[in-house]
Amino acid sequence: MTGATQKRDLRTGRSLWTDSPGLGVPARALSTAISVDVAIVGAGISGAFMAYELSKDHTVAVLDRRPPLRGSTLASTALLQWEIDLPLTVLTEQIGAARAHRAYLRSRKAVDDLIRIVREARIPCGLRPKSSLYLAGDAYGHRALETEARARAAIGLDSQYLGRAELQGRFGIDRTGAIVSTGSASGDPARLAAGLLRRAHARGARIWSPVEVTQAVSDPDGVSLLTDTGHAVRAKSVVFCCGYEFPKDVPTPGASIISTWALASKPRPRHPAWLRDMLVWEASDPYLYLRMAGDGRIIVGGEDEPSPGAHEDTQKLKRKCATLTAKLESLLPDVDLEVDYSWAGAFGSSTTGLPSITPVEGIDHTWAVMGFGGNGITYSVIASQIVSTEIRGKLDQDADLYRA
Ligand SMILES: Cc1cc2nc3c(=O)[nH]c(=O)nc-3n(C[C@H](O)[C@H](O)[C@H](O)COP(=O)(O)OP(=O)(O)OC[C@H]3O[C@@H](n4cnc5c(N)ncnc54)[C@H](O)[C@@H]3O)c2cc1C
Repeated sequence: MTGATQKRDLRTGRSLWTDSPGLGVPARALSTAISVDVAIVGAGISGAFMAYELSKDHTVAVLDRRPPLRGSTLASTALLQWEIDLPLTVLTEQIGAARAHRAYLRSRKAVDDLIRIVREARIPCGLRPKSSLYLAGDAYGHRALETEARARAAIGLDSQYLGRAELQGRFGIDRTGAIVSTGSASGDPARLAAGLLRRAHARGARIWSPVEVTQAVSDPDGVSLLTDTGHAVRAKSVVFCCGYEFPKDVPTPGASIISTWALASKPRPRHPAWLRDMLVWEASDPYLYLRMAGDGRIIVGGEDEPSPGAHEDTQKLKRKCATLTAKLESLLPDVDLEVDYSWAGAFGSSTTGLPSITPVEGIDHTWAVMGFGGNGITYSVIASQIVSTEIRGKLDQDADLYRA
C-alpha cells in the first residue's frame, strides 16, 4: 500500500474544544526505527480507545502526522448516542431483523462501556449521562416514530413515543411526535481522547508525532510501516484509525465524506431547564441537533451537505451558522443565543449508518477503523473492542456487522 491515506484540511473555524484545559499528551518526534506489538495510525478518539485497550497487554505505538487530537475529534459535538443515524425499522429493511437488532444492542452496550471506562480510568472530560429526544421531521414523521419506538421497545431498548400534546406539555416543542430514550451521554471529546492517551502512555504506550505513515507492507511475521521521517516502524499488528482520511486500497462501499457545521453559544444563555439533561435531534434531512455543554453553553449542529470540501468555505460557515441559529430559535423560541464558536468539518456517512471496522485486504495483520455517521465516538468504542479481540486471536460475535 502506498500513500497510506488521503490528506486535506479537516476543520474550518474554531471549535469549542480548542480551548479545553488538560489536552496535553506526551508525544515525541520519531528519531529512530522502532518495533512494537501494535502500531496505531491516528491519535484521535478512535486511536485513543484502541491504545487504551491494547496497552493493557501489548507494547503500543500511536503515530500521527498532526499533533495528537487535531483531526476530526476536535470538531466533534460529542453527543454520545446509541441511536444509529438510520432508524431500527429502516435498518431492519436494509440488513435484516437479526443483524439490525444486534447493531442497535451493540451500540447501546458501547455507550455503557464508554461511561464505565471513563469512570474506571477517572478521565475528567465532563461526561454526563443523558436521555435523548428524537423529533419527528421531514424524513420520518410521527407515525414512523411511533412504529420505531415499538420496534425498539420490543428488543428491550428504553424508547418511549410521545404524541404532539405530550411533547408540547413536557418540552414545549411543537412537533407531531417524538421518541424519548434513556442511555446516552455527552462530554468533551478532546479531553476524553487526551485522557485515554495519557492512561495508555502510563501503561507504556508511546505517542509519536508528527510522523506520516506512507506505506505498509506485510510479511508472515508482521507489518513494516514506512514513514516520512525515514525511520521505519515494525509491528506484529497495525490498526489504521485515520478518521475521514481513509487508507487507500481499503474498500468502503456506500461510504462517502460529507461536510457538517456546528456552533457553541456563549455560556448560560436563557434555556429551558430540561435541556441540561437531554440530547435533541430530529428526523429531518438536513437535520438539526443540540445539547448543552458542561459550562452551560448550547452546542448546535447539522446542515450537512454531500460535498467533502464544502466545510472549507469560510463564507458558507457564516451562512450555515445563521441557519442553525434560526432553526434553533424556531424550535425553542425561549432560547436566547449569542454565538461564541463556529466551525465546520469533514464527516462520514454510510448507507446503513454503520461504520467500517475491517481487516485490510492484501495487507496481513492490519485493520482499518472508519467510524462513519453521527455516532462516530460510539463506534470508536466498538472498534477498540472488535480489533483488540481479534489481535488477541479471538472472534467478536458482532464483527460481521461492520465488514464490507
Ligand atoms: C462537526 C462534527 C460533529 C460531530 N458530532 C459527533 C457527535 O455528536 N457524536 C459522535 O459520536 N460523533 C460525532 N462526530 C464524528 C466524530 O467526531 C468522529 O467519528 C471521530 O472524531 C473520529 O475520530 P477518529 O479518531 O477516528 O478520527 P480523527 O479524530 O480524525 O483522527 C484521525 C487521525 O489520523 C491521522 N492520520 C490520518 N492519516 C494518517 C497517516 N497516513 N499517517 C499518520 N497519521 C494519519 C490524522 O492526522 C488524525 O489526527 C462529529 C464530527 C464532526 C466533524
